Amino acid sequence: ALKSLGVGIGDPVATLAFNDHRHLDAYLAVPCLGGAIHPVNTRWSDDEIVSVLARTRDRVMLLDARLADRVDSLLPRCPWIEHVIGLGWSPPGIEGITSHHHDELLAAAKPMLAWPELDETSAMALCSTSGTTGGPKTVAYTHRSTCLQTMALGLTDCMRLSGRDTLLAIVPMFHALGWCLPYAAAMLGTRLVLPHRDLSAARLLDLVSKHRVTTAAAVPTIWNAVLAALDAEPQRWDVSSVDRIVSGGAAPTASMIRGFRDRYGIEVIHSWGMTEINPVGTMSPAVTTREEAAMDPDQRIEHQSVAGRPLPGLTLEVEDEQGRPVPTDGRSTGRLLVSGWWVADGYLHEHPETDRFREDGRLETGDVASIDDRGRMTIRDREKDLVKSGGEWISSLELDRAIGDLPEVMAAAVVARPDEKWGERPVAFVTLAPGASLDLETVRIALASKFQTWQMPDDLHPVKTMPLTSTGKIDKKALRAKMNDMTDS
Ligand code: ADP
Repeated sequence: ALKSLGVGIGDPVATLAFNDHRHLDAYLAVPCLGGAIHPVNTRWSDDEIVSVLARTRDRVMLLDARLADRVDSLLPRCPWIEHVIGLGWSPPGIEGITSHHHDELLAAAKPMLAWPELDETSAMALCSTSGTTGGPKTVAYTHRSTCLQTMALGLTDCMRLSGRDTLLAIVPMFHALGWCLPYAAAMLGTRLVLPHRDLSAARLLDLVSKHRVTTAAAVPTIWNAVLAALDAEPQRWDVSSVDRIVSGGAAPTASMIRGFRDRYGIEVIHSWGMTEINPVGTMSPAVTTREEAAMDPDQRIEHQSVAGRPLPGLTLEVEDEQGRPVPTDGRSTGRLLVSGWWVADGYLHEHPETDRFREDGRLETGDVASIDDRGRMTIRDREKDLVKSGGEWISSLELDRAIGDLPEVMAAAVVARPDEKWGERPVAFVTLAPGASLDLETVRIALASKFQTWQMPDDLHPVKTMPLTSTGKIDKKALRAKMNDMTDS
């Protein structure tokens, strides 16, 4: 059907869609035709979508019925679009654009007799960062890089994915190619459960019980909500089929990892990655060596709280401000560099951060990290989120995690507030567990064993809900803006 619309080698095909079987078909069909699947973030504003599509100029777009309200505001601003394929509906006519119902287009299509020969270094997908620290940045994934990433995801000591699993793919397909999990599942024969639009904890748990899901992947904010729902109604869902879940894209708290393990027998595999690396960099299962098998339960939680070892094919390095390697002692921190088989070599467009792709193939991740003598990497913070107080760096992420571990807290995020005397000071935002209360003094006492007094937050602001980015991470840009408003008033 896509071929009949002229999609061929080098053509990007945009999707504005949720995780469902038709989107999965397109994930497979577009690259097989030599085109590049281009999943666009459904949570972006029209301006963000237009700014990305204006660079890639996709002629064909697949559009989910539940996003019908975007047609009038978005499509007239995208004059390069010639065909819109409605997933589950017939989009209304827009001048200059031919509208198709997905099922009718497919029914009329002829089977393809041969696939084109493709260059393995040609683009098979276009992905954009979620814009946590700035506007979206777009990279191309090649057939080669995605194939290698997919093979690595299928390794036993990654997430133990196999043809016997049922994977609930919660990660939206527009977020870093659904972390490539749709491809890994297709390669291995894993049964896929695709949740479409509703990612509420109750709906996800309904799907887990109904389809006897064995594994699933999502960002920590989703897992925190799922854990809270389970704790609130432990008898409501049967999660006995679930063996392990993957939490990636942001840092999980130790209490979340412990909660799933101790109360539900579910292992949390911690993963680090980024859009620019196609996208998974580490996956850290609870046990991969004999030494790890002998760990006591508390050591195991610490072990699972670090991002872990790089997947085979990637190299992680940490360097100081002078570019020298820092000791691999698990404590010394510096700039995290990544290189290897599926690291992109640049953005598709001009961008002030293009310099982060070094000529020697190493990518400056924008993260501050440490590596220990076992090769395990810990993310300490994003460079842009560090708090510089009196000339010393304070890790906002370490504070997030420590405050987030308190029983009164559902979610915590620390941001820098400009300060005349110290330059910047940390300020914490928290959402509290139902019925809980918390004051700054209690937080400071609880943190005393891990942090110096000067590293602790100066203020604590309870908020009803944490602002989230379009990929479900805590939005520190929004919190900084909120704090500035509070300071101004
Ligand atoms: P964005 O930068 O817009 O969030 P990505 O989704 O590509 O776009 O995010 C990549 C970044 O997310 C990483 O550079 C890192 O800062 C953060 N991240 C990813 N996984 C983790 C993790 N396990 N722990 C802490 N931070 C993480």
